[in-house]
Amino acid sequence: SPVRSKVKVTAIPGDGIGPEVMRATQQVLAAAGAQVEWEEALAGAEAFRRGIAAGAPQETLDSIARNGVALKGPLETPVGHGEKSANVTLRKVFEMYGNVRPVRELPGIRTPFSGRGIDFVVVRENVEDVYAGIEHMQTPGVAQCLKIITEVGCERIVRLAAAVAEAEGRKKVTVATKANIMKLTEGMLKRVGEQVLKEYRSLSHEHMIVDNCAHQMVIRPEQFDVTVMTNMNGDILSDLAAGLVGGLGVAPSANLGDQAAMFEAVHGSAPQIAGKGVANPTALLLSALMMLRHIGDFATARRIEHALYVTLEEGQDLTGDIARDGEGVPTAQYVDRIIANLD
Ligand code: NAD
Repeated sequence: SPVRSKVKVTAIPGDGIGPEVMRATQQVLAAAGAQVEWEEALAGAEAFRRGIAAGAPQETLDSIARNGVALKGPLETPVGHGEKSANVTLRKVFEMYGNVRPVRELPGIRTPFSGRGIDFVVVRENVEDVYAGIEHMQTPGVAQCLKIITEVGCERIVRLAAAVAEAEGRKKVTVATKANIMKLTEGMLKRVGEQVLKEYRSLSHEHMIVDNCAHQMVIRPEQFDVTVMTNMNGDILSDLAAGLVGGLGVAPSANLGDQAAMFEAVHGSAPQIAGKGVANPTALLLSALMMLRHIGDFATARRIEHALYVTLEEGQDLTGDIARDGEGVPTAQYVDRIIANLD
């Protein structure tokens, strides 16, 4: 095969279990020969300790801007110090407007939904909606929050959902909104979805009221292919969807914008188990596979995915959160098993 030059990727280990799952993921990628050169960068709790109010120093932002690709561990959100969330800083600086979360049944991970062939993608708008955080007290005892939805924002998130569908050979895009109540804001996504998706001849399109979508995801999740939602609805339903296929320890995600792509596990810093060497690195590893495909290294991604699936299927040497007998092994032992299964 041709010798490819290494692709530089910014690695942000992050807080809590972040450095542990990052190291585990990097070990597996190295063992599989992924052509990635890591550029380590700081963000999160340590940045706040150093007095950087945004949670990420300029060098980190420069590194992501240069490389255009980052793999990120979880970042603690400081509660009640008036600092910003480092996650929000990164998302906003690079205008990463799309959050993409694949929801796929994994071999060996038993859930109440096992065996139904769940395989869909949640595409969540990531910078607008009530999460713009524009809130105030109207009068004492009456709080108001502004829900900002733009046509430009709706169009680019619908086009991203369509691009994901096309890239993965999927057939249907479900736009889920609360347009029946919020006719202007939620209604805008519904309307733009109807207009834009007409252009994609190979995709069928449906609209679903978001509360029914939550219900449908639980009673018949296998009907979904690609779903697209505004920020808060997508936040809630993507967590619900993660729960269908094994939960936080195995849920990956991508944050996509025009200037940068950042891949991360859905879970947080799990402070209760940090430093104990027992965290499950699967979610970050699956995020790294999305990253490898993003940079075009499909062969290495496939090879690691296969080794991971074999490991989960065998059911030996799994971390405590997914071990079938409840007897978990250390992160390092699970990683060794995945690496052994690469061949
Ligand atoms: P959490 O995801 O850290 O933990 C929830 C539960 O899941 C805990 O019981 C934890 O032990 C377990 N868990 C999570 N990941 C695991 C893993 N890989 N292996 C084994 N068990 C795992 O959620 P939380 O406790 O609500 O948040 C903790 C901190 O993380 C907070 O400061 C929060 O703001 C931050 N957070 C960051 C991100 C991010 O950076 N994207 C996301 C969510 C939460």
